Amino acid sequence: KTDLKPDAGTTPVMAQYLSVKATQPEAMLFFRMGDFYELFFEDAQKAAAALGIALTKRGKHQGEDIPMAGVPVHAMDGYLARLIRQGFKVAVCEQLEDPAEAKKRGSKAVVHRDIVRVVTPGTLTEDTLLDARGANRLAAVAIRKGRAAVAVVELSAGVVDSVACDLNDLGAALAAFRPSEVLVPDRLFSDETMKGALDGSGGVVQAMPQALAEPVGAKDRVQRLYGVSALDGFGAFEEAEVSALGLIAAYLETTQAGRIPALTPPRRSGESGFLAIDPATRLSLEIDRTQRGERDGSLLHAIDRTVTSGGARALAERISRPLRDPAAINAGLDAVEWLLERRDLRRDLRESLRASADVARATSRLALGRGGPRDLAAIRSGLTTAEGLSALFAACANDPLAGPPARVTACLDRLALEGDLSHLLAELTDGLMDEPPHLARDGGYVNPGHRPELDAARTLRDDSRKIIAELEAKAVADSGVAFKVRHNAVLGYFLETSAKAAEPLLRAGPDSPFIHRQTLANQVRFTTVELSELDAKISQAGHRALAIEAETFEGWRREVARLAGPLQGAAEALAELDAHAALAEWAEEVGAVRPSVDDSLCFAVEAGRHPVVEAAVKAQGQPYTPNNCQLAGDGVGASRLSIVTGPNMAGKSTFLRQNALLVVLAQAGAFVPAQSMKLGVVDRLFSRVGAGDDLARGRSTFMMEMVETAAILTQATERSFVVLDEIGRGTATYDGLAIAWATAEALHETNRARTLFATHYHELARLEERLDHVCNLSMKAKEWNGELVFLHEAAPGAADRSYGVQVAKLAGVPTAVVGRARAVLERLENEKAATARLDDLPLFAAAEPPPPPVKSVLDEAVAAIDPDDLTPREALEALYRLKGLA
Ligand code: ADP
Repeated sequence: KTDLKPDAGTTPVMAQYLSVKATQPEAMLFFRMGDFYELFFEDAQKAAAALGIALTKRGKHQGEDIPMAGVPVHAMDGYLARLIRQGFKVAVCEQLEDPAEAKKRGSKAVVHRDIVRVVTPGTLTEDTLLDARGANRLAAVAIRKGRAAVAVVELSAGVVDSVACDLNDLGAALAAFRPSEVLVPDRLFSDETMKGALDGSGGVVQAMPQALAEPVGAKDRVQRLYGVSALDGFGAFEEAEVSALGLIAAYLETTQAGRIPALTPPRRSGESGFLAIDPATRLSLEIDRTQRGERDGSLLHAIDRTVTSGGARALAERISRPLRDPAAINAGLDAVEWLLERRDLRRDLRESLRASADVARATSRLALGRGGPRDLAAIRSGLTTAEGLSALFAACANDPLAGPPARVTACLDRLALEGDLSHLLAELTDGLMDEPPHLARDGGYVNPGHRPELDAARTLRDDSRKIIAELEAKAVADSGVAFKVRHNAVLGYFLETSAKAAEPLLRAGPDSPFIHRQTLANQVRFTTVELSELDAKISQAGHRALAIEAETFEGWRREVARLAGPLQGAAEALAELDAHAALAEWAEEVGAVRPSVDDSLCFAVEAGRHPVVEAAVKAQGQPYTPNNCQLAGDGVGASRLSIVTGPNMAGKSTFLRQNALLVVLAQAGAFVPAQSMKLGVVDRLFSRVGAGDDLARGRSTFMMEMVETAAILTQATERSFVVLDEIGRGTATYDGLAIAWATAEALHETNRARTLFATHYHELARLEERLDHVCNLSMKAKEWNGELVFLHEAAPGAADRSYGVQVAKLAGVPTAVVGRARAVLERLENEKAATARLDDLPLFAAAEPPPPPVKSVLDEAVAAIDPDDLTPREALEALYRLKGLA
């Protein structure tokens, strides 16, 4: 590593670079020099490798060449995107004054520069760097007094969330937000038990100094972020929540270089408000991404009919964090149903939403001082849509019989533009051009007629340009020389002619009206008194016009920043309406029905379909077979655990996932692809279906499966819904069978969760006779003319055979091998019938009573301490550790 201390030979600019770099040693520093951002030292080497740009050198440092790489300013966004995607943090250092200003301080003076922001995966705001249909979130995690908290900010929309939960639920709470970056105090960062939760979040994990999570300092920082003197007005926060919010505040302070974003107060929700879905379940169900990380093929992709990017984000949020409270769920369903019944209204609603731009992100950029005229146009289009929607709904809003349900009315309330917002809309409609440029810098976005002094400056500038054209004709007539008027940045306007034609003028005396300015190889340039006067006038008028436009822009920008709250509220309302309407649209398209959701422990689906597999199967011209599924925690006559057997490829995992996905959809307030569905709300959803090897983490399939099974057995409650596929597959037959058996038994007896348990151990079918609430289901297949045909139908009863050999044949295993397998199978089956009597196995004896409860972590920690064996210092440390656990 190069020692980045200035030495005797360090130039003033390099000294400035080194001092800026010292403030952000971790980040790759982009140092603005004129039209380029330059990188030096190791940053240059890393950037050259990551971006494939040329590595050069500039000057020397401690006798060595300084490596340098650079990217042009206009191409910055593209390079930034690539670096962020590769996990780099980038600090952007700008020139904060005009180089001409620096010159005034002396010829050696260095332009003033400083870092204006640090770009990290979780804090992006640029459209070019963001996925329009997905939220980009920064999360922070903290643990205090045995409780966990997750704080989340979506900087591009100015939304903050705070969740407090049990340690066990941390993984699910974090994964629900799909953060791109997660901040963790360094003590937790190195904690092995946190690894699963952090890795499962899918974000880049950043360790933060422990001190930043201490509650007192954290609270101060959060108060500073919001400009308030107490947090009580936002709700009663747990200590862990304050710590987590404090980490976010600290990170925003450094990365945004002191600019304070417009943020909503933290929306608080205990995890109890949401259906808990842990990272492994999310992955297995492919809720918003497939296991390969693609959107295509996920549940979200299959049902997404939104027409705006804000709506797409709202829908993603709804599907990623389904609710748990039946009243809240039914409120969502009411909105979808109401829009489903009103086709024309829905069509008009979607039409007008389609025309609106991304208000949330535009507002956030403007509030952070990074927006341009196009962001103002986005706000105008959003507000125009809001106004249009109020009119559209006016007719039905007062209908006492069929008026909109509460969720829709709440949206309409936020879209009713009053006072300031309607004033802002009027102002932008009058003042901002229809299609403004991206950057404010070059002007050309304020409408003529909006500000008289701007019109005057523009007229002066443009009229003078016309006069210049006349002046050219006059100069030609006066001198008889073929002059052309030209313009450049150094000379302004001048008259140009060829060297030959200029000869007589150059010989003319001092009285000649043509004043010589410059001689080039073939051209000579002149000016006249009139021309230089006009030139000055034009440039003054031009500057004045730019200044007036800049001032107008700043006025609008400030107004947007001041109104960020109601603007974000309107943006959310547009997004929510889009999501409701999209769910109605999809329901109509695929024939989905309203699920009945209540407090019971029921689960009854008639003719359910898998939303993703159905689409895939139909795309291939095949029919999809709907299936029923009935489970009930209540007991009354129904079973709460189903053992699902059937050959490979018969549709077991599709059936399992399908029912879990129907739970997700129903609790997200969406209609479900089925003939009917009755659901008693689920608190936690677990799915372990077809786990792939996680070799990257050095765990075998079997180990992974056991870790995940352990999580289910410790967390599932009577209210939970569990789908498990082929537990115990990764080990020897009897081991596997034993584990599967014991797991099924525990789920039935202890957890009492509604469970679908698919297995290839047909022995498990015997549980039906031994336990009260178990029933067998099997996926039907039949042999027809020697070929195996899958019916994909779940029917009562256990499968009689596994057809493994037939499946092997279908898969193209050579005939000779298939024939041999058949022969071996026959032998084995005969032997088994003769020797093995399963009832002799201990498995089939009565289940052992459950073991005594495990000691608490605290008890164990206390037990592990031997007071006689500790130094005073160790004793003190032990005391702190215990305090942390309490
Ligand atoms: P298993 O888990 O029993 O090996 P899968 O659930 O993976 O079987 O299903 C195998 C294939 O069968 C799926 O990819 C799908 O194409 C088809 N399939 C499954 N269920 C159905 C169904 N209900 N209707 C039509 N096709 C289905």
